[in-house]
Amino acid sequence: MPAADVVIVGGGVTGASTAFQLAQRNAGKILLVERATVGAGPTAKSIGIIRLHYSYEPLIRLAVRSLEMFTRFEDLTGGTADFTRAGFLLLATHAQLPAVQENVALQRRLGVRTSILSPEEIARLDPRMSLDDVGGAAFEPDSGYADGYATTTSFAAAARRAGAEIWEATRAERIVTENGRVTGLDTTRGPITSARVLVAAGPWTPHVMSTAGINVPIQASRQQVVQLEPPADFGRLEVVIEDMTQGFYARPESRSSVLAGVLEEEAEQVVSADDFSQGVDFEFVTRVSRLWAHRYPGASEAGVRGGYASVYDITPDWQPVLGHVDAVEGLFVAAGFSGHGFKLGPALGECLAALILGEQPEIDISSFALSRFASGRLIRGKHIQGILG
Ligand SMILES: Cc1cc2nc3c(=O)[nH]c(=O)nc-3n(C[C@H](O)[C@H](O)[C@H](O)COP(=O)(O)OP(=O)(O)OC[C@H]3O[C@@H](n4cnc5c(N)ncnc54)[C@H](O)[C@@H]3O)c2cc1C
Repeated sequence: MPAADVVIVGGGVTGASTAFQLAQRNAGKILLVERATVGAGPTAKSIGIIRLHYSYEPLIRLAVRSLEMFTRFEDLTGGTADFTRAGFLLLATHAQLPAVQENVALQRRLGVRTSILSPEEIARLDPRMSLDDVGGAAFEPDSGYADGYATTTSFAAAARRAGAEIWEATRAERIVTENGRVTGLDTTRGPITSARVLVAAGPWTPHVMSTAGINVPIQASRQQVVQLEPPADFGRLEVVIEDMTQGFYARPESRSSVLAGVLEEEAEQVVSADDFSQGVDFEFVTRVSRLWAHRYPGASEAGVRGGYASVYDITPDWQPVLGHVDAVEGLFVAAGFSGHGFKLGPALGECLAALILGEQPEIDISSFALSRFASGRLIRGKHIQGILG
């Protein structure tokens, strides 16, 4: 029977980044099992927005560390994340602005390059925007977006080069435990012995964890994305926008298209992660086109190139579940990223590798423990949209 020092279930950005960090540290035999192909789950469907605007300190620290890694990704992994430093603009109403100002003050204390822009300053950045309902914005010049699939396959390739093994088309079927300790993992390719297992299986995490008797409160929520094509005379969208005034986001895709969707306040469509409609609904396209036209009235005739749907793995407080699971020695979890986990992936790989090796991570992620749900210590950000943290 094959043996490993650490087994990781799930080859999304979280699992691949952690495999890379563990392999870099010569932590023995690292084995990642992925039921399909690396990066092919919700990670591949990510919009890939990388911003530092959070209201909760550990999230800001993780985002800052990750951005630093995205900016030198080629040196780190020898591959690409396709990172584009487009800048990030968070639009707020007059009523929302005080909370944004407070967040910006906190972020600046933590070293983030961010500032508050007045409507006049926003107009200088992009004169095409209608700003009647905007009280101001937070602006981060160093943020942007990257590609989920490229990032993850680059981490996986670098992990392999550093000695990790990756078994694709291999499903984890059961976490094997004995007297409250992990002893291995049963997979469709046979059993593996290991004293340490990390489950990073996105929306499928509750199922995998239930095989060890552990309940993880994660729901799969269907999320749609629209590809809009503004009229030719619009030019290019230069900056990433999260528009709290309307609950809307847009980011550049190519020279002539943008990816757009909504910032939800709660899970709109709870589905089975294995059985949901992967296309985009006509009604959603109409809704997003209306939000786009409100912000960019001169480009209201935008065409629709297409769209798709994937799933967020949402927890009750829209924050991930991270770290060791108290009830089972050797069992770790990293899931429930609730639609904002891509940007955290690089830094989390470092933190999770440290935890698994029994070290203190540089960023304290202990408040994200699974036990917070039983003890009622939920994490509450300042914004009504949980995804903004
Ligand atoms: C439409 C959309 C837009 C998004 N936009 C952003 C954004 O702009 N910025 C941002 O930061 N985040 C964004 N996110 C969220 C981000 O993409 C996710 O938080 C992140 O990719 C999650 O990665 P993961 O590795 O934790 O999980 P996943 O990508 O879900 O990967 C889990 C993997 O586990 C595998 N697996 C499941 N069960 C098993 C099993 N039994 N055995 C073996 N393998 C198994 C799956 O096949 C999958 O590959 C978005 C997500 C979506 C869907």
